[in-house]
Amino acid sequence: MSFHCKRCDTDMQTVFYEGVAIQLCMTCKSIFLSKKKLEIIKDSREIEIPEDTPIPRRGLEIQRDCPKCEVVMKKIRHGRIRSTMIDYCETCTGIWLDKGELASIQFSYEVAENNRFRNQAKHL
Ligand SMILES: [Zn+2]
Ligand SMILES: [Zn+2]
Repeated sequence: MSFHCKRCDTDMQTVFYEGVAIQLCMTCKSIFLSKKKLEIIKDSREIEIPEDTPIPRRGLEIQRDCPKCEVVMKKIRHGRIRSTMIDYCETCTGIWLDKGELASIQFSYEVAENNRFRNQAKHL
């Protein structure tokens, strides 16, 4: 099953990221995956995917349609340290990530984890 990148008008390809099959646009490097798959990628970490954090509309943020359901996706904030704005489809729980956003989310978890480790070490 492959989807169409709404941005480039090209077919997305199935690639494996941390053992999880995700859709990748080879042109703009955008990623489309389900919320569940994002959770699998984050499996060993604390997962927080806020569903009801409304994001003030900014001029730079473009409304995006879900490549699966053709409905407008909702902007949610994800990641604790460096907040990343992601597009979320309430219909299929699909998540659209622009180039670098997955890495950015992962980075924020790693930073949070390192900080926790440092705080623990302080009390030893
Ligand atoms: Zn694309
Ligand atoms: Zn959808």
